[in-house]
Amino acid sequence: MTDPRDLFRRYLAQQIALGHSSVTLPRPLGTVAAPAAPETRRRRDKARWQTDLPPVPPSGITVPAPDTDLFATDPLTAASFDAVVAQILACTRCRLHAGRTHAVPGEGPRDARLVVVGEGPGATEDAQGRPFVGRAGDLLNEILAAIDCPRETVYIANVVKCRPPENRKPQGDEMDACMPYLHRQLALIRPKVVLAMGATAAEALLQTRASLAQLRNRVHEYRGIPLVVTYHPAALLRNPNWKRPTWDDVRIARQLLDR
Ligand code: URA
Repeated sequence: MTDPRDLFRRYLAQQIALGHSSVTLPRPLGTVAAPAAPETRRRRDKARWQTDLPPVPPSGITVPAPDTDLFATDPLTAASFDAVVAQILACTRCRLHAGRTHAVPGEGPRDARLVVVGEGPGATEDAQGRPFVGRAGDLLNEILAAIDCPRETVYIANVVKCRPPENRKPQGDEMDACMPYLHRQLALIRPKVVLAMGATAAEALLQTRASLAQLRNRVHEYRGIPLVVTYHPAALLRNPNWKRPTWDDVRIARQLLDR
């Protein structure tokens, strides 16, 4: 009797000779493929980020919108998006402007449903005038793609718009000088969710000195918008152990987008 392995080898050789790059193994006559089990089907239909979803956590800090001041003198309070960007590009409100090559206003659709907020431009961002374009930016792009929110659909901004020297943390007065830009950007975009990446973004938006560990796993509210805090991508590059909790955090933010 012919060895079935020889038969199979001959079959493969024949398929290759016919130019096929893959082969479909014929099923024995009279048999039908078993239907996928319901659980397998459900898994197949789900996006990767939806598998084993962490529950949406309880609420945290609420930062109310400030009272509207009819007599406000800061021209930013009524500025259009283009005017905000123009002001950022020409800004001299704090010492950081002196060392910049480019100010980095942010980028993305002005009607984005998700806004990501980081700390401030690094060397690559300063050179290009765009946020998150260095190594941390590559990781951020991967994270966003994994929750089906490709970078092009997200507005990406920072607490300070000019690079601090040696990438140090921005100082309090620098953040105070720059935050009105971010507040106005968020008021104009009015996203469904804000994702604060790193302690500086959380501190600036939630006006707190609480640690990242205390701020994670809560849904905060920034001026009426749900806000989730997670690790900064640069911190993830230094400590890959934080990737797992970050994956949970961004999937919490992703769930809030669908609400
Ligand atoms: N880190 C940030 O916080 N923002 C950037 O734009 C780049 C790196």
